[in-house]
Amino acid sequence: MRHIAIIGSGPAGYYSAEAAQKKFGSDVRIDIIDRLPVPFGLIRFGVAPDHQSIKAVSARYEKVALSDNVGFVGNVTVGKDVSVDELQGLYDAVILATGAPNDRTLDIAGGDLPGVFGSAAFVGWYNGHPDFADIEPPLDGRHVVIIGNGNVALDVARILSKTRAEFGGSDIVSHALDMLDDSKLEDISILGRRGPHQIAMTPKELGELGHLERATPRVEPGDLPELGDDALLEPGMRKSVTLLREFAAIPEAFRADKDININFDFFAAPVAIEGNGKVERIIVERTRLDDQYRSIGTGEIYTIDCDMVISCIGYETPSIEGVPFEHGRGRFANVEGRILPGLYCVGWARRGPSGTIGTNRPDGYAIIDIVAGDIGDGAGKTGRPGLDAILEKRRVQVVKFSDWKKIEEAETARAREGAPREKFVRIEDMIAAKG
Ligand code: NAP
Repeated sequence: MRHIAIIGSGPAGYYSAEAAQKKFGSDVRIDIIDRLPVPFGLIRFGVAPDHQSIKAVSARYEKVALSDNVGFVGNVTVGKDVSVDELQGLYDAVILATGAPNDRTLDIAGGDLPGVFGSAAFVGWYNGHPDFADIEPPLDGRHVVIIGNGNVALDVARILSKTRAEFGGSDIVSHALDMLDDSKLEDISILGRRGPHQIAMTPKELGELGHLERATPRVEPGDLPELGDDALLEPGMRKSVTLLREFAAIPEAFRADKDININFDFFAAPVAIEGNGKVERIIVERTRLDDQYRSIGTGEIYTIDCDMVISCIGYETPSIEGVPFEHGRGRFANVEGRILPGLYCVGWARRGPSGTIGTNRPDGYAIIDIVAGDIGDGAGKTGRPGLDAILEKRRVQVVKFSDWKKIEEAETARAREGAPREKFVRIEDMIAAKG
């Protein structure tokens, strides 16, 4: 019998478990450990609450989770409740699928002022992540600046713009919905340090900004490259840039009916954030591209008055004591997923925060191929009973998958009309709901 522990119950974790089931059939026992009492990681806490079709992939993970040889070990923090070393003593393979839940640091003066949030915090807040339930973003202001030109910047701009009615059918948490509904927002500026041809935004997500009830995107026509240059782009990127061109052509008269402008500010690098005890303005330097398409400052500085700054500049994997880490790249040091003998990583923890949820599927299958070659038939280790003994001794309250189903049932029962679920945002409420 082979025993595999997977740390992290997001997409990379469940695709790896699915791959292990396919590879080893009934000759494997898999435990998926998560520090939170609820599974699915990025699906629950990262994917936007109005993107329910993307979240539906959790049904596939649930199928894996409900098999006899796969366990969910929730509410257990590796590094605190049990160490990686201990797990390695119990399991033939330990796979870190911990994702990249930490914000990459916005390293500018004033980056720590109240009113500056990383996207992990802001996205976590509207998705009900227990770590960010209390951040209270100042939504009573008129202008929010978003830094970054990726899909997370688009998610954040869209969530800030939507009306209560537009959140119908979403699983946004009510504390966020109420505050967003009351917001007095007039302007959202999305700062990109490079230009329209360097965005990391995909067409579907960009296109959604063109169909909002109370907001309209605005692109300065002068920021767009020559039309003919679009021919050199790969098709997805060309579609995205075509959308930016459409946004640039939106007539001013159309904006008159809308409450919120979503301004794309290209060639704009944040230099500092200022304010008296809270965010009041951001200082920006106009940039241009060098011959390698890197952004370089022009020395032209301007100021945007604003009430909140949300930095959407990418994520990092949290390090774990004793596990080799590549600090510059924010991921575990690894060669094709191997960290140390018996210790592996997969998904964003292996390659950094890029790609779609589906990208983690081949990643999960690839790591299991490697594990299969390394562990053979297994070394007669103890697996789950050994883990249970350690956790019982330390009085850790483990949440199983059957407990999660009770939590989910309670959340569904609490749901507002038209919403799929009213999520619990506090760990103690999740634990209480499992009975
Ligand atoms: P991302 O795609 O890597 O974009 C990060 C953006 O931040 C880039 O525009 C980057 O600009 C900019 N940036 C980085 N450091 C900066 C700095 N110091 N100052 C100013 N700008 C800076 O990251 P993400 O948006 O967090 O997305 C992460 C992954 O999740 C991506 O693969 C994304 O596609 C995926 N995702 C997908 C969806 C969806 O499919 N619906 C939704 C959300 C996220 P440079 O290019 O100049 O470095």
